[in-house]
Amino acid sequence: MQDFEHKYDVFQKALNIDDPWYVIDYELLQKEQILNIYLDFKRGAKFVCPHCGQPNASVHDIVNDDRSWRHLDFWQFKTYLHARMPRVHCDICDKIRTVHVDWSRPKAGFTWMFEAEVMQLMKEMPVAAVARKVGEHDTRLWRIFHYYVDKAMKQLDMTHVKRIAIDETSSRRGHEYVTTFVDTDSKRVLFTTEGKDASVVKEFKSFLEDRGINPENIEEVCSDMSPAFKKGVEREFPKAHITFDKFHVMKLVNEALDQVRRSEQRDEPTLKRTRYLWLKNQENLKKDQQEHILKLKDTHLKTARAYRLKLSIQDLWKKSRSLAPIYFQEWYHWAVRSQLEPMKKAAQTLKKHEKGILRWFVSKMTNGLLEGINSLVQAAKRKARGYRTTKNFISMIYATVNKLIIQVGP
Ligand SMILES: [Zn+2]
Repeated sequence: MQDFEHKYDVFQKALNIDDPWYVIDYELLQKEQILNIYLDFKRGAKFVCPHCGQPNASVHDIVNDDRSWRHLDFWQFKTYLHARMPRVHCDICDKIRTVHVDWSRPKAGFTWMFEAEVMQLMKEMPVAAVARKVGEHDTRLWRIFHYYVDKAMKQLDMTHVKRIAIDETSSRRGHEYVTTFVDTDSKRVLFTTEGKDASVVKEFKSFLEDRGINPENIEEVCSDMSPAFKKGVEREFPKAHITFDKFHVMKLVNEALDQVRRSEQRDEPTLKRTRYLWLKNQENLKKDQQEHILKLKDTHLKTARAYRLKLSIQDLWKKSRSLAPIYFQEWYHWAVRSQLEPMKKAAQTLKKHEKGILRWFVSKMTNGLLEGINSLVQAAKRKARGYRTTKNFISMIYATVNKLIIQVGP
């Protein structure tokens, strides 16, 4: 035994293998570019009982089949550790169990160090690139990824969450969606799930309950005006106040304005190639474009009237909390009498959501808070490219947005 320890000293030390384990042999397969390192344990050694944790369990027998673990590469060689596993008998719990080894998670086919490397690489590059680089199927890499991300997510403290924003993101090919629930105070993704109907809100509620969080802790919810989210929140979080995101409100008004322009453009050559001018905020236009829109905006054109309605509702959020309801009411009357059918319809939709739109003056919540998060979600999508399942995409969202600190090791 002394000889072995000496002969394979370099592997022994490099692997950092602890007593009673030691390197008994190795083989270098030149053609396959594989290094196999064989481990054994000293006879008479005692092990920790994997069931109760007492350190003096003695070996009962040896599991016959060789187990192996992929380890960090040794230069250009893929490296595998091999060992036959002892089963121990524990006097305390009177059970026979296969021991856990120090170099890997129970039942894992990789060592801790290999998993740590994979987690690091998956943070930095698309999974397909990692799979190519390490020469493992991506399904196995995702399995590692899920394990550590789930573990880190379980450690997120959600006990103080009061204000959340709901947002949907397309997952694949633009017609599949995931919905994300974000704590707007800590800017962390709490929960992401497939779909964008009312049931996702119910799932979020169950998720909180499973973690021992009272759903009534949630006081404020910000979302777009999707009927599904509204219905879901009203049903599952009846005590929470909803704020409808002002960017979505403006989007709706802009769409109405654009409809007015499109139908008018057929008879009005002055409207050719002006779409951008009407839809952009003035401060984002170039100087000549600004002059152009200033000239257009006071004309008799229907589009100009619709535009003035847009500018006016845009000012809503600059009003004081006490003035805002009156201002909104006046705007609504103006819009419904404007004889611009699309604007009238938009105004009616906003009227139905008045309470939630005006809630902003208390909550000050918008999904604009999510912009940074959305760009991270897009980064997650790129990194998870070819992610095969939505579960993989969701896991990548958690890791990327929450910048999870992944701790790999016993
Ligand atoms: Zn035991």
